[in-house]
Amino acid sequence: MKPIQKILIANRGEIAVRVIRTAKRMGIKTVAVYSDPDANSLFVRSADEAYPLGGTDARSSYLNVDKVIEACLTTGADAVHPGYGFLSENTTFAKKLEQNGIRFIGPKPHSIEAMGDKIGSRVLVAKNGVPVVPGYEGESQEMSVFKTEAAKIGYPIMAKASAGGGGKGMRRIDTPEELEAGILSAKREAMSSFGDDRILLEKYIVNPRHVEFQIFGDTKGNIIHLHERDCSLQRRHQKVVEETPAPNFPSQLKSKMAEAAILAGKSVQYEGAGTVEFILGESGEFYFLEMNTRLQVEHPVTEMTTGLDLVEWQIRVCQGEPLPSLETPAQKGHALEVRIYAEDPKEGFLPSIGKIHHLSFPTREDLRIDSGVVTGSEITMYYDPMIAKLIVWGEDRLTAIQRLMECLSETIVFGPKTNLQFLQKLVSTDEFAKGHVSTHFIADKESELLKENNKEEMKYALAGLFFSHVEVKNPWKAKVN
Ligand code: ADP
Repeated sequence: MKPIQKILIANRGEIAVRVIRTAKRMGIKTVAVYSDPDANSLFVRSADEAYPLGGTDARSSYLNVDKVIEACLTTGADAVHPGYGFLSENTTFAKKLEQNGIRFIGPKPHSIEAMGDKIGSRVLVAKNGVPVVPGYEGESQEMSVFKTEAAKIGYPIMAKASAGGGGKGMRRIDTPEELEAGILSAKREAMSSFGDDRILLEKYIVNPRHVEFQIFGDTKGNIIHLHERDCSLQRRHQKVVEETPAPNFPSQLKSKMAEAAILAGKSVQYEGAGTVEFILGESGEFYFLEMNTRLQVEHPVTEMTTGLDLVEWQIRVCQGEPLPSLETPAQKGHALEVRIYAEDPKEGFLPSIGKIHHLSFPTREDLRIDSGVVTGSEITMYYDPMIAKLIVWGEDRLTAIQRLMECLSETIVFGPKTNLQFLQKLVSTDEFAKGHVSTHFIADKESELLKENNKEEMKYALAGLFFSHVEVKNPWKAKVN
């Protein structure tokens, strides 16, 4: 297969910047596509060429298949990297690219299709021996059938949109009395978010962890795993902190889960980077949740501990190259990622839009910042209000946590409200230091995490802002030692 000459990045923000970096390092030309509000963005400036899609919101720009294909044809791009979100799991887009002789840096459309639907993917992987959460994924969507099936599964149960993603269309239902209202409300949300209101039922796993495996396949049918990531710290089913290796994760359990992850990938002849997500119960039982057929937001923690560049691997696999090794690479140290958002934790985490008057991060070797904005950038209402991903590395977990606390306290954002203080409190709790994580962790502690900082803490924060050259005592440091 001919090497790729020019990649069009069908995305925006930090992930577009991140893909452009790797492509440039590999000597591949890059094209950014952008909407009107993104005209002056960092990713547009970083690319070799930029093509205006027009439009403001996602639907009229980044999600418009025809416009993006036209951009490829006009600029002569011979491959597209879709990033995550937008068109990354859109089979119509992948197929249209194929028809136009443009390579899609991702799996084949049939793999995306098979994993794109929670009902279909559950049935498929279960057939291949991957454990799935006990539940109901039958044809009938009759309320009477849901009632009978929920009773068989046993309460509490989780009603989930088959087309779901991003934690949408999901409801925990505790009693038979709540069933009908819960299902109807999940269906309503599913219809408005995905245009598909099919629901499946799963047993609700109490106080679980979210552990996922990064897998990689090549065009020769080889699939390996690149270790796990623990993404248990979530808010409303959305990840807030991600790390690898998973804390308190016995090696026997890891081997079993890794084996199931590879089986899931093999069941769709997977090529490229994918993530198999599992839910892990308190007594060590684990079940397949879903497979994401794209690069994941949290992929940098895997890169920080393996030394690999997953985007480079994606490009190489797309060019038909075999995996560099069929062995899982060794992992070194521990990496943590947090997502810094322009949002107001005190107002229910509502996006906080506006100009970023000042943005700065500490510079140090053990810290990686993936960001699509700079001082002067605007956080708009049109897209995800993420400011940056902050990824730290340490020789071991506690060192990494300590460094993360230092980096968070030295990060400065003037302008929109942010979740910085919330994150600082979260990663400085004793339970987190001990690795006692679960998907309920944030909800259980929300009021504590949202409390105003006391005066002493504020003093340190202010000192950090105005006298950043002065060594500032970190009020949270002592807790971990
Ligand atoms: P989405 O595609 O919307 O992200 P997932 O199926 O991946 O949905 O689940 C997202 C999160 O919801 C999981 O990480 C977990 O915290 C929670 N969750 C999903 N299924 C269950 C379940 N059966 N029991 C308890 N929690 C669940």
